[in-house]
Amino acid sequence: AEPLLRVNGLKKYYAASGRSAFRRSVVKAVDGVSFDLREGETYGLVGESGCGKSTLGKSLLRLTEPTEGEALYRGVDLFKQSRKSLQAYRRELQIVFQDPFSSLNPRQIVGRALEEPLVIHGIGSPKERTDRAMEMLITVGLRMEHYYRLPHELSGGQRQRIGLARALILNPRIVICDEPVSALDVIIQSQIVNLMRKLQAELKLTYLFIAHDIAVVRHISDRIGIMYLGKLVEEAPTDKLFANPRHPYTQVLLSAVPVPDPSGRRERIALEGDLPSPLDPPSGCAFHTRCPFATERCRTETPIRREVDEGHFAACHLI
Ligand code: SF4
Ligand code: MG
Repeated sequence: AEPLLRVNGLKKYYAASGRSAFRRSVVKAVDGVSFDLREGETYGLVGESGCGKSTLGKSLLRLTEPTEGEALYRGVDLFKQSRKSLQAYRRELQIVFQDPFSSLNPRQIVGRALEEPLVIHGIGSPKERTDRAMEMLITVGLRMEHYYRLPHELSGGQRQRIGLARALILNPRIVICDEPVSALDVIIQSQIVNLMRKLQAELKLTYLFIAHDIAVVRHISDRIGIMYLGKLVEEAPTDKLFANPRHPYTQVLLSAVPVPDPSGRRERIALEGDLPSPLDPPSGCAFHTRCPFATERCRTETPIRREVDEGHFAACHLI
């Protein structure tokens, strides 16, 4: 079947600020990423902070303008739409951020914040909007009285429930979740992830779930893509990725995930150094400066993406 969203060769480059005009530096935040989002699935996008995953999410909604590539939503390229025609699609693609209230007025009651998307899209009468907001509070496991609360009166978990309610009030089909549980403690994290799974089933949602922690996306993702310095280095169904990670970077990420069965414990692989700057990414395979298996070839030649098993792709010279 046709994917709900097909991302093709997405690039987001921007000029680095504070640099001399003679050295025109370009940050390749997202550097040629392609993947499909299938109807009803959760695609987990994982990588270290600074790898470009948030930029990718924002580019899909054009909250930041992509430099190159396509985003075909039901066959229509979102990157080619005028601002005006994009508005219609923006109802169907919503985003949830780590802290949903960071961009909202702290003196505005929750109910008003919830209704805002309806106001922006000119949907319903004031009474209908209030009814819909109340309904959404129940949907995300809160109570109607939360309508009158101020953001600071809510816990982190409650705030993220409001974030979800606000994203879902327009009845979207795709929700881009950018580290939605990263600021929460572990117990609240699993409550929110469980709520998201329940909402996905009830409302037939498709998720792009962005996280730096692969353990967080494991139980919600059907497939996982691993990003390193603006590129997708591995992609596989979740089970296959955990059973047989092929890219050395994925192996490093997985070696840090605790396993319930001690006999299945992987040896922890330590990653040397920090993520290199996307301003000056390493030549060849960008991971070669930290890869335990790097050879001379890795320094000069960029590995191409290969299918190593059905639906399982990786880009590494070793495979
Ligand atoms: Fe490591 Fe080379 Fe594979 Fe890159 S191509 S992940 S440096 S072995
Ligand atoms: Mg981020």
